[in-house]
Amino acid sequence: MPEAPDLKVIVDFLNKRAKGLAVDSARVVKPSVVRPLAGDVGKDIPGRTLDGFERRGKFVLVSLSGGRMLAINPMLTGLFQWCSSADKPFKRTCLVLALSDGHDLRYLDDKQMGMVYYCRPEQVAVIPKFKDGVPDVLDDIPYAEFKQRLRPFRGEIKGVLTRGDFVTGIGNAYADELLFEARIYPFKKSTRLSGEELRRLHGAMKPVMEWAIAEPERRVGEDIHEKIRDFLKVHDKGGQPCPRCGNPISELTANQRITSYCRRCQPGLLIRN
Ligand SMILES: [Zn+2]
Repeated sequence: MPEAPDLKVIVDFLNKRAKGLAVDSARVVKPSVVRPLAGDVGKDIPGRTLDGFERRGKFVLVSLSGGRMLAINPMLTGLFQWCSSADKPFKRTCLVLALSDGHDLRYLDDKQMGMVYYCRPEQVAVIPKFKDGVPDVLDDIPYAEFKQRLRPFRGEIKGVLTRGDFVTGIGNAYADELLFEARIYPFKKSTRLSGEELRRLHGAMKPVMEWAIAEPERRVGEDIHEKIRDFLKVHDKGGQPCPRCGNPISELTANQRITSYCRRCQPGLLIRN
């Protein structure tokens, strides 16, 4: 689930609360999600300090003192938890960093789809799915660049947005929200978008991301593992009235992913080839 707005809220929180703390112990609970590229996590991390947290696309990068890094790709199901070291771990806990102030930073993943890479900073660029050099949805991408970057892509606009090669940080939920805001049919080929539609999609990015960050930021507190998505306008709201026109929101599942949209506000023909 975590997309750029969710991860921004988490990273901001961790920079306030965890930055500068030392790691007393590191415990790998689910080895299948950890790739130790720069040493044994349990032995090599303790004694290092958390130097800072950064989001890059859908990755969270944790800088550790002494030239090490955790590059975490939570995919669809990974989450971060901030809690007291005394708290009983959830079953889905995969990695536990016990910190010098009595808190734990834990990585949770109930389907174990995500991946935690322990690496040197120079190894980050070669990590699978790390989109180096692709602009981020939270950057202010100028319209000319936006249009230029979209040109080589041929698929349906929803898929182009979520794959992360055009712009990074957008997942299933915010692709639906952006397309709703821009009044674009999600299955329209990106090559067939009109100039007007491109303008609207570009123009939707900033306002949608702004409220996507503001709402969880206001509500999340210390519970950064909670999913706050109930404020979305269309995503996962199938059957509920469209907030713009009142028509029931449609929901389709393709490739195990839900697409929610309003047939009236985002008209189009479902032609698949
Ligand atoms: Zn509508």
